[in-house]
Amino acid sequence: MAYLQLKGIEKFFGEHRAIKGIDLDIQPGEFIVFVGPSGCGKSTLLRLIAGLEHIDGGTLSLEGRDITHLPSSKRDLAMVFQSYALYPHMSVFENMSFALKLAKVDPKVIAEKVNRAADILNLTPYLQRTPKELSGGQRQRVAIGRAIVRAPKVFLFDEPLSNLDAALRGQTRVEIAKLHRDLGATTIYVTHDQVEAMTLADRVVVLRDGVIEQVGTPLELYDKPANQFVAQFIGTPQMNVVPSAQLPAAAMPLVPPAAQGGSIGLRPETVVVRQDDQGLVRGRVDLVEALGAETLIYVHTTEGAQLVARQSERTHLSPGDAVTLDLATGQAHWFDSSGRVVTA
Ligand code: ATP
Repeated sequence: MAYLQLKGIEKFFGEHRAIKGIDLDIQPGEFIVFVGPSGCGKSTLLRLIAGLEHIDGGTLSLEGRDITHLPSSKRDLAMVFQSYALYPHMSVFENMSFALKLAKVDPKVIAEKVNRAADILNLTPYLQRTPKELSGGQRQRVAIGRAIVRAPKVFLFDEPLSNLDAALRGQTRVEIAKLHRDLGATTIYVTHDQVEAMTLADRVVVLRDGVIEQVGTPLELYDKPANQFVAQFIGTPQMNVVPSAQLPAAAMPLVPPAAQGGSIGLRPETVVVRQDDQGLVRGRVDLVEALGAETLIYVHTTEGAQLVARQSERTHLSPGDAVTLDLATGQAHWFDSSGRVVTA
């Protein structure tokens, strides 16, 4: 039986059906990430689980118990917000102990739990400071610490890193991953950053327009996307998707029948740019991005297709240069005209 189970979950804002019959089974200790474009409903779904929004249809259960209409405070879940939501006039220690104090936990036990969480999160030197005396990353760790001391059944994170700069975001992401490994707590994490999704998740839930498009491990989504939407949402730079008609027949000897009139999807690492005329597709360089460890080369082909190639070697190519392309069509994804995957 699932630990946390969503069955036909619905949410309306007035006439707008924001969440459309979501079914999802989450296992104990799993790290689940909700991703999707802005407005797809990921925060709303998290808030429904947290009890911060009323569930309009379906059932939510935790360990087999129906909690659909249970107040947030009785759900035994702890949420970490993007804005941290710390009490500005309380010290770090007081912020972290607040919920336990309200629950009338013995002060000795509170001190033990807070000190342990502070230790895990490297916050011990800051326990007497107030939030305004901390950096953004430290504040975020206090918000996480406040959730840890409550030892909830499920941790909920709503874009917890989006207020941090890129370096700190990377560091804190690694800390969250370690924390999950150490505590083994069931976690649901909302982000629009697919690197966070790919690196943190046991399973990623891709949402679009209030509906689940696909659930899978990060590599399942990368290697076997169910449709063009997931294929292009997961992976940076985006998968190249080119209408079949825009590639010369010589480059694609084996188009599956259902993909004729549809398109071909090629990950940037399966497109090889050649400086000789031996490739099957001709084109010109639009842009070169030298990122150090890798180089991205944007090309438009004679047939009008736009493609990006990712390579680990550096290049002397410049915009306007004539090139040819090898396409690893054996690793291609095929889509029919409505974006569904077609197996070759
Ligand atoms: P983002 O990444 O931009 O935060 P999201 O995927 O988290 O987006 P939600 O905030 O869950 O999206 O919103 C889902 C849909 O519900 C959107 O169309 C949004 O406009 C609508 N919505 C969310 N909250 C409310 C509200 N309180 N009242 C009315 N509509 C709302």
